[in-house]
Amino acid sequence: MSKRKKHDSETSEKLTGIKLGKAQEVAGGLKAVGIALKHVNNEMPIAKGLKVLNKLNQKKGIDCPGCAWPDPDDERSSLGEYCENGVKAIAEEATAKALYPEFFKQNSIQQLAVLSDFEIGKKGRIAQPMYLKEGNENYEEISWDAAFSLIAQHLNNLADPDEAIFYTSGRTSNEAAFLYQLFVREFGTNNLPDCSNMCHESSGKALGQTLGIGKGSVKLEDFEKAEVIMVMGQNPGTNHPRMLNALKKAKRNGATIISVNPVKEAGLVSFNDPQELKTIIGGKTKLSDYYLQVKLNGDQALLQIINHLLVKQDALDHAFIQNKTIGFEQYQQHISHIDVETLLPICGIPLSEIEKIVALLAKKSKIIVCWAMGLTQHYNAVDTIKEVVNLLLLKGSIAKAGAGTCPVRGHSNVQGDRTVGIVERPPKALADNIRKNFGFEVPEKHGYDVVNSIKAMYEGKAKVFFAMGGNFLSATPDTLYTAKALEQCTLTVHVSTKLNRSHLVHGKEALILPCLGRTDQDVVNGKDQFVTVENSMGFVHSSQGVLPPFSDKLLSEPAIVCRLAKATIPDSKVNWDKYLESYDHIRDEIEHNIKGFDNYNKRVSAENGFYLPNVARSGNFIDGKAYFTAAHCEALNVNDEDFVMMTLRSHDQFNTTIYGLDDRYRGIYNERRVILMNKKDMQRLNLKAQDKVNIYNDHGGIERLAPNFVVVPYDIPVGCVGTYFPEANVLVPIDATALQSNTPTSKSVIVRVVVVEESE
Ligand code: SF4
Repeated sequence: MSKRKKHDSETSEKLTGIKLGKAQEVAGGLKAVGIALKHVNNEMPIAKGLKVLNKLNQKKGIDCPGCAWPDPDDERSSLGEYCENGVKAIAEEATAKALYPEFFKQNSIQQLAVLSDFEIGKKGRIAQPMYLKEGNENYEEISWDAAFSLIAQHLNNLADPDEAIFYTSGRTSNEAAFLYQLFVREFGTNNLPDCSNMCHESSGKALGQTLGIGKGSVKLEDFEKAEVIMVMGQNPGTNHPRMLNALKKAKRNGATIISVNPVKEAGLVSFNDPQELKTIIGGKTKLSDYYLQVKLNGDQALLQIINHLLVKQDALDHAFIQNKTIGFEQYQQHISHIDVETLLPICGIPLSEIEKIVALLAKKSKIIVCWAMGLTQHYNAVDTIKEVVNLLLLKGSIAKAGAGTCPVRGHSNVQGDRTVGIVERPPKALADNIRKNFGFEVPEKHGYDVVNSIKAMYEGKAKVFFAMGGNFLSATPDTLYTAKALEQCTLTVHVSTKLNRSHLVHGKEALILPCLGRTDQDVVNGKDQFVTVENSMGFVHSSQGVLPPFSDKLLSEPAIVCRLAKATIPDSKVNWDKYLESYDHIRDEIEHNIKGFDNYNKRVSAENGFYLPNVARSGNFIDGKAYFTAAHCEALNVNDEDFVMMTLRSHDQFNTTIYGLDDRYRGIYNERRVILMNKKDMQRLNLKAQDKVNIYNDHGGIERLAPNFVVVPYDIPVGCVGTYFPEANVLVPIDATALQSNTPTSKSVIVRVVVVEESE
């Protein structure tokens, strides 16, 4: 077996001194408010923080750079339309700490690389473009013009445009994303991987093939009308905290909430709304009526058993099935003959529990199913989500008030970026419109997604890597492989607000291009500009910063794209100067090239925003019909002594951004190198709480090692373990991906756990 070679800059492996408390059963409360304000206070004067928070998620205000949970369509809370983690996101972005050239002179790459991701992230905002010359150990300042001409030179020296990769993270606005894909396609490639490839790609595939649109169908108001809400593979208390408010309202309107998740998460058990005097005084709102602690990778089996029993009991909406679906007979044949006894141990839920859920669902038709990475990052993720669709179709629970699909998106504009063209397989309509409106051909060859981009860089087929936002190395799987891939490049470029790990693992030359954040004012020709984003429910609205930029050497993302395009393609068919004058012109182009954006400028300026068309919401589906699909479900092939591992986020974290070292809902403090393990498994391995272990994955005959993890006894199914992302990404094999979506299988990594002897 070969080993992945250790890379100096991969990640810090030092332990920080764990303290264990009790896992909590209630999320929110006044404590959340106190902690949020402490984060603001640590990063900036409180008056500055309040100026931003007053505008956060308000109409015509600043869109939270955190998750993509929607704001209410009607009135917004005057107390604050945000959560603890939204405040932390603001504190991170609007921090008063800034990194000037002196910092980079004093801190070499090697010195910074030994820090943890948390320590790196806390250094502050980057104040000017920085350049790393080949062979140098320190970044140095570079002018914007010199930076653009260096990138243009690298790009134009490539033998083929497909040797360049242009990544997008989910913070990028619609305006910047549309221009970016336009530039990349005129340059001559579709290599437009994005963070969607690692999160909801499986949802997009499953929903697109069955319902005709790769997005969710529900609106926020549907939560108030639902009879049953299933929350699957999701931890809203940490990752989309304002969703708890929607669940609370649903509950008060009589909805039953079923949570399906391997670990008990505080936010799914109960919620104490810090905005509501009644709950502050009177206590929590219990959320979940049923909590199914499914085994990792057991959701497809669970859904198949539920659907089998619904069909067996004939608890179906026959009129809906008859009028609005295709494929029911084949599906009925398939699901009637599944072997429940084989599927029960895969999901790990007793049949008696499942029968209670079926008895409930049998009587209801307004059912919403929500999900996140717990469903999307498995080998069988696409089929699992199609089984969600089968359930909703059996019950006629789609295209009606209080019912439908709700894939909850993790980053604020990840959905919008895809809508405006960030995709490695260009939609025909977009390619036709670009030809018609801009006069150039979009390349036909499909580009690389994230996993294939990494492989292309590793194999030397791609040589320039450009990232519009994000922390690519920490977000992606198989960290050592990905690090090697980035190092093979001739040039790596990151458009960033803050320093991150990906700046320290670089190509032969590297650039950091500092951009404005969501909270920053963006003034063009004396006029304040706003950008637009699309939330998880397909609503497009504006976002406008209020803070004067802390440095005059920052550029907005749209300006960076325009100037890069001008430098790279001197005879471009696109009038980039026009977009530099006003973002209204960019929105006009989006309106002319992408369906659903009619009267774009008018509707985002005069009104609060607008919903994009959605065929699953309207019931038009694909040619008017939705598709049942049948799939076989198999157990993962795991040796008795091995574990199935999932990576998860701590409460002090948003994606790759680490706000702190605590995970207070889970009772874990001051340590991120932890492995959550069932007490029975600990006994089997003769482990005590806080023992140290090394974790290995051997996929494909390659040994991947995540050393030095602390054992935490936890309420997690036997045979399953949990570790934090990105620390355990080193174990996620680059070529273990979901069928059809190619999403890394970060929620079902097969690992060995080996005790670290005292002398080691
Ligand atoms: S729920 Fe998401 S979008 Fe809303 S404030 Fe919290 S992090 Fe931001």
